[in-house]
Amino acid sequence: MRIVDCHIHAVGETNPNDLLRQMDETGIDRVLILSKHHRTSLEETRANLLETKKLFDAAPDRIGGLAYVNPTIPGVTALTRDALSEMGYTGVKIIPDHWFAYEERLEPFWEKMNELGASILFHTGILYGNDDGSRFCQPVYLEKLLWYPRIRFGMAHISWPWCEECLAVMGRMRAAAGKGHHEWQSYIDLTPGTPPHIRKQAVANAISFCGPERIMWGSDGCVPDRLGGQRRILESDLKIFDELGLDEKQKEQILSGTADSVFPAGA
Ligand SMILES: [Zn+2]
Repeated sequence: MRIVDCHIHAVGETNPNDLLRQMDETGIDRVLILSKHHRTSLEETRANLLETKKLFDAAPDRIGGLAYVNPTIPGVTALTRDALSEMGYTGVKIIPDHWFAYEERLEPFWEKMNELGASILFHTGILYGNDDGSRFCQPVYLEKLLWYPRIRFGMAHISWPWCEECLAVMGRMRAAAGKGHHEWQSYIDLTPGTPPHIRKQAVANAISFCGPERIMWGSDGCVPDRLGGQRRILESDLKIFDELGLDEKQKEQILSGTADSVFPAGA
């Protein structure tokens, strides 16, 4: 079965061959690598993008890149456009870092992403970093994106502890798409965060409310050297999929089909 991990962080210098070897050991066909994050500097962000570009340039069929940017940095709109249209990034990663997605100052950025038909993975849910930043990452603030219907976006970690709010946003975007006659824009990324006592229920709820074609699997691992948890997370989620009675087609959709379609190779 084809498996794509939609959410891996680049945290240090990584040799593409080491990464491919680790992927082979776990049976992962493709990963999406998030470039290193810089909270304030355009130049550091650019350097991070160029560093991660080396990784996916070495194996574009097996490694895809998500450009991790802070849309409030002056000049980042043009840099993000370049990342998508020139550097070969297949999508964007964003964490709302002490700003809310609905703020007026972000509208030119969303406008450009809409024009480009960008796919964006958002951190949603509690944060164990970025100072006291969690409140900015409630999924409901992403409702703003219904004004930008060509943007597709994923909500990472099923937005825990706001899993129900995440599903509510999914429903909201589904309804907006129906009314506006455009495609349903939103997706859920299953990366860890939900604690064991609600993991199975959270996954079951997401599947039953949205369908497997709206859900993508990821481990939230790090490279170069902390991809180690990937196998454990995969095995535990596969067990949940079996307990929920998913068929092979549904499993493959969640494990690779959705990520391959939202963040395609060779985009
Ligand atoms: Zn992450």
